[in-house]
Amino acid sequence: MSVNERLCRCGSNIAFSTCCEPFLTRKVLPNTAEQLMRSRFTAFCLNQATYLYETHHPSKRESNAGKPLQNPASPSTWISLQIITTDAGHADQKLGKVEFIACFEEQNKHYQLHEKSSFVKEQGRWFYLDGEPHISSVNLKFKRNALCWCQSGQKHKHCHGA
Ligand SMILES: [Zn+2]
Ligand SMILES: [Zn+2]
Repeated sequence: MSVNERLCRCGSNIAFSTCCEPFLTRKVLPNTAEQLMRSRFTAFCLNQATYLYETHHPSKRESNAGKPLQNPASPSTWISLQIITTDAGHADQKLGKVEFIACFEEQNKHYQLHEKSSFVKEQGRWFYLDGEPHISSVNLKFKRNALCWCQSGQKHKHCHGA
């Protein structure tokens, strides 16, 4: 399976090449707050710190630096994203909220980060503004013969479960 045929890491169940990749390569701007949220999660998965910086509202780049989802230097391995609800944030709007749960691994333990993030659109671009993250430990179970969560196309037991 080539890289471009892989499913996107944001959990959309569509190919990376037609999901978050056009945003990460700056070919297209996200239309909605949810698209920006998804592309930022994928950027975390792929360690694209510049994209994360650029899509973070300029007024918040310093104050959010220490938060887990905002710290590209964090050693976390991001596993999955689940969008819970979206509130406004459509293409013709200026504000939006996206509630999500993102699961990650750190030192062989699994955690979930639950946050309702705020987004703002200025001059045609969506930016992540802020949100209050709630982190708790979870026990994720992966089926050894299922495809790995990282979308490598390999079975979990041969990939991150090896
Ligand atoms: Zn995506
Ligand atoms: Zn894997």
